[in-house]
Amino acid sequence: MKKVFIKTYGCQMNVRDSEAVTALLRKRGYGIAVRETDADIILLNTCSVRDLAEQKAIGKMTGLAHAKKRKPGLILGYMGCMAQSRGAELLKTPAINLVVGTQKFHHLPDYLDQLTGRAGCPQPAAVVETPRRGEDTAPYQILDIKDEAGSESAVKHHEPGAVTAYVSIMQGCDMHCTFCIVPATRGAERSRPILEIVDEIRQLVDNGVKEVTLLGQIVTSYGRKKSEFVKLLTAVNAITGLERVRFTAPHPQGFGDDLVAAYRDLEKLCEHAHLPVQSGSDRILKAMRRGYNREKYLKIIEKLRAARPGIGITTDIIVGFPSETDEDFEATASLLREVQFDQGYVFKYSKRRDTPAATMPDQLPEPVKEDRNQAALAIVNAAALCHNTKLIGQTVEILVEGRSAKGAKRMMGRTRTNKIVVFDGNERQAGQLLPVRIERATTVALYGNK
Ligand code: SAM
Repeated sequence: MKKVFIKTYGCQMNVRDSEAVTALLRKRGYGIAVRETDADIILLNTCSVRDLAEQKAIGKMTGLAHAKKRKPGLILGYMGCMAQSRGAELLKTPAINLVVGTQKFHHLPDYLDQLTGRAGCPQPAAVVETPRRGEDTAPYQILDIKDEAGSESAVKHHEPGAVTAYVSIMQGCDMHCTFCIVPATRGAERSRPILEIVDEIRQLVDNGVKEVTLLGQIVTSYGRKKSEFVKLLTAVNAITGLERVRFTAPHPQGFGDDLVAAYRDLEKLCEHAHLPVQSGSDRILKAMRRGYNREKYLKIIEKLRAARPGIGITTDIIVGFPSETDEDFEATASLLREVQFDQGYVFKYSKRRDTPAATMPDQLPEPVKEDRNQAALAIVNAAALCHNTKLIGQTVEILVEGRSAKGAKRMMGRTRTNKIVVFDGNERQAGQLLPVRIERATTVALYGNK
């Protein structure tokens, strides 16, 4: 039995895709290698959002190509976003056998059958499949794994014994943010029907899952019609046995009054909202084509905090977007100070192929981006530490997920506001909702005792 190892880069969507592909390959009779060194086939599920993510995967593949000299039968492949955007050019290194874009994962078992000679036809040296935008007309191909897997239920594709699960509700992105490569790598938006999603979550709950995170590139665009996402949240909230619901990633534009009210009315919807602001400068927001301005964004935060006092709010920031002046950056810094986010992810602008921002004038030098990155991080970290420190001495409810790290003694869980809590406990507590008293805090985690 040939064994496959998949290394995943990037977002939760990629993690979910790797899980789905693993399930497809298992069904086709492939083994799953726990260690890369045990594998006959190694696939890198790639990310393209920033250049750094691409370079990491390319560096890794260069190392694997060297290793192949000692193991000539080894099959190497790229899948996912970078495979989609770079296509056949990735085959420049002759050691690589496979490049499969984001909407063709369901063909992976066939390609591997061909490459390993299992298909009975002459073995090709390499396979490339990266459909262009518009070509992928099927409504929701990656999750059509039921077709491949016969009547196998979707729940089998999640890790056994897991307390939390990601549930993909849509694919693709129809937004036009000028910095972002995702619409090109993930194709047009396609949503799954509510009933199918609810059915999958019911099965997950029957198998012990207590918390689900609804997943998509822009979940607030789900179903394309106004209020469709809130309808979905309401249906998921009604599932007996499910304790918590989260979602990622939304777009600030999607936070209408109905979604704000859902935070007030749906008891299972956790009080955490990730609202990627990207910039605090109206001029830059316009150049990014984000569809909101600073005032509108701050209004959403105000409404959310009124609807659910104590809600955890996190964000994404891009510093060094083309033409960003010191004044523009100061507007971002002042927004960060004003909102006091619970956590924030700061990214240096990275030029992405075929995006409008890549050809904008006034691309900024790296040292300027680095300085602004450090300055934004300092504000974000100070706010995060302040929020976390306030919890010292308080008792918070956590859902216990498991050991804090592989082989670690301590356990970990999350608060409803999405803060990580590490505590002394035991494995039998996994899946339980527990009160934990917080004794210590850092910028990224809380430490407590049962
Ligand atoms: N749904 C999110 C939104 O509201 O736009 C996009 C998710 S994106 C995969 C995650 C984050 O990566 C973005 O929020 C943005 O901050 C960052 N990002 C995307 N493109 C980038 C680029 N070209 N350079 C730097 N950071 C980028």
